[in-house]
Formats: sequence, C-alpha cells, structure tokens
Amino acid sequence: MRKLDLAEPWWPAEDDIDAQVREDLDRWERDGHASFVGADAARWAPATRWEAQAALAQFVEHRLAAFGPHEDAMLAEDPWMAHSALSPALNLGLLHPLECVRMAEDAYRSGTAPLASVEGYIRQVIGWREYIWSIYWHVPADYRQHNSMQADHDLPEWFRTLDAAEEVTANCLKSVLTDLRERGWVHHIPRLMVLSNYAMQRGWSPEQVTAWFHEAFVDGYDWVMLPNVVGMSQHADGGLMATKPYAAGGAYINRMSDYCGGCVYDPKVRVGPSACPFTAGYWAFLERNADRLSGNRRMLQPLAGLARLTDREAVVEQEQQRGSAAP
Ligand SMILES: Cc1cc2nc3c(=O)[nH]c(=O)nc-3n(C[C@H](O)[C@H](O)[C@H](O)COP(=O)(O)OP(=O)(O)OC[C@H]3O[C@@H](n4cnc5c(N)ncnc54)[C@H](O)[C@@H]3O)c2cc1C
Ligand code: SF4
Repeated sequence: MRKLDLAEPWWPAEDDIDAQVREDLDRWERDGHASFVGADAARWAPATRWEAQAALAQFVEHRLAAFGPHEDAMLAEDPWMAHSALSPALNLGLLHPLECVRMAEDAYRSGTAPLASVEGYIRQVIGWREYIWSIYWHVPADYRQHNSMQADHDLPEWFRTLDAAEEVTANCLKSVLTDLRERGWVHHIPRLMVLSNYAMQRGWSPEQVTAWFHEAFVDGYDWVMLPNVVGMSQHADGGLMATKPYAAGGAYINRMSDYCGGCVYDPKVRVGPSACPFTAGYWAFLERNADRLSGNRRMLQPLAGLARLTDREAVVEQEQQRGSAAP
C-alpha cells in the first residue's frame, strides 16, 4: 500500500444540523423530489466559516509543503495526496481565494513550505481558478452545446451511476469511480486524465458529461464545471480554451500513478485480451478525429504516430467493438 507520509486533511465532526440535512435529503429522495448518485458517507467538506478556516490552516501547516512534487500524481490508496480539498469551501464562499494565497505565501516566507509547492498551489488558485472564471463569462451563451468533435454517444449506465465496483476491471477507472462514489470528489488529474480522457476517447456527448460532473461532484458549480469539462477536458469548443485535446493512453497513466501494476490490462498492449482500453482507445480516438485535428500543429506528431501504427485497423476495429461497454 502506497500513501504519502502526511497528516490527514482536517475533518469535521458531524452535528445535529448534518443529521437534519440527511433526513431531509432522504425524504426528498423517498418522495421522488430528488435523486442522488454516490454513497451516503460522512461529510468531509467544511460547512461553516470556522470549519473552512480550520481546514485551510491544517492544509497550509501540514500538507502544503508536499503539494508541488505530487500535484500531478495519482495513488490508488491515497485519494487526497497533498491536495487541499478546499474547492467546496472556496466555491461556497467560506474562504476567499486571496486569503488562501496569502496564507500559502506566509508559509513560504516563514520557511515552512518550499517555493515549488507554494508557487504550484498559488498558480492553481489565482492562475487556473481565476482564468476559468473569466472564460465562463467570455464564452458565448451556447457554449454548453458546443461539440466540435461531434461526440454524440450516451454515457453508459456503469459510468453514470458510479457502479464500477462490480462491472469495471480497468484498475484506474474502477479505483477513481469508487473514490468518487465514496466522497463526491477526486483530485484534478483523475478528473482530467482518467474520467474525462475516457469520456472523450469514447465519444460521449460533452453536454451529458457536463451534467454528470455536476451530479457526481460536491464542488460542482456551473461557472467552474462548464469551461473545465466542455473546454479543457472534452475539447468540445474546438480549442478556444486548450490548444490540444487532453487525450492520453495508458503509458501516461502508468507514468503518473500506481494503477497499472494491479490491472488485468497492460498499458503497452494495443490489441488482444490484455489491450489497455486507454492505450487502444487513444489511437481509436485519433483515427476517428484525424481530419478534424489535422490542422492543429500540436497534433501533427500524434497523427504521424497513428500513420505509422502497423496494427491500426485491428486496434480501431477492436475499440469499435468495445464501444462504451465497461472495460
Ligand atoms: C473535468 C473537470 C471538472 C472540474 N470541475 C470542477 C468543479 O466543478 N469545481 C471546482 O472547483 N473545480 C473543478 N475542477 C478543477 C479542479 O479539478 C478542482 O478544483 C480541484 O481538483 C479541487 O481539489 P482541491 O481543492 O484539492 O484542489 P488543489 O489541487 O488543492 O488546488 C487548489 C485550488 O485551485 C483551484 N483550481 C485548481 N485547478 C482548477 C481548475 N482547473 N479550475 C478551477 N479551479 C481550479 C481550486 O479552487 C482548488 O481548490 C475540474 C477539473 C476538471 C478537469
Ligand atoms: S493498464 Fe490501462 S486500464 Fe489498466 S490501470 Fe493502466 S491505464 Fe488503466
């Protein structure tokens, strides 16, 4: 079992208000007024200003120092790693982005966290978060319907309901969907390079993918979800937000995680029973979109790689057959 040697994030103690909220949610579901995905697990996100401040202080004091070296990595047994898990508190307005940034800066100035980690964290907050906010107000009103890759397959049931434990054998997907089911949260890289990457490879409708992210994540707000899903993760806006699609095969996941060691598939194999669905899916995605992507200079190398594949037809046929079935 591999975990970072770090203090746990700050966890709240549930109180009478949590019990009341649970009761209300259960009643709404029973009466057919609402339906939810995921497990009914303990609340982990701050719900008050005091709780949010405690969670921020714990992160900055005990975990921020490890943020930089690990921010893009994934470990099967350590969903939180060195991430702050503060996005729900920020989006609810329980924390001000600048207060998080100032506290991180203070940690650097007082010598408790190294520059690489502090810079990495600050870049997420005043770089990515603010950029995404601006993109949301900049894009046209019909951005949600953009679908430049003409991806129109429905999300399969096993993905939509987060019921991966029984059906899915691909270790990365199974592990990430199970984490999401338990907490309503996974960090940025599983969102982008496992869940979204798979959705884009399989040609699932970006509008449905956006709606699913809204339903499944505790930090989902339209302004932050829409550009991240439609633009960054599905390339459905034709490159308005990101210069190339975030598509990757199993080699990337293998390099950035410990998922592949325990998987029935092999990230190096493209065809046959042990063919990794991400690796084969990556080539099938390129094949399907080769014409659309041929004018993108950043895609010239991957497309040249596709042209050189000796088993190109077999890969494409295999992945057409796999389609959206649970891998
Ligand atoms: C497909 C997809 C959907 C996403 N949907 C959401 C969403 O609905 N709500 C949400 O808050 N974030 C979303 N993100 C961004 C990011 O994944 C989460 O903010 C982050 O994982 C939250 O965990 P954390 O607080 O531990 O972040 P940390 O890794 O500790 O980062 C610090 C903070 O930086 C900000 N941040 C980092 N990256 C982004 C980004 N791409 N966009 C906006 N803020 C960012 C967050 O406020 C976060 O709390 C999405 C990313 C992807 C790829
Ligand atoms: S081999 Fe492929 S499917 Fe299995 S964990 Fe690695 S990337 Fe995921």
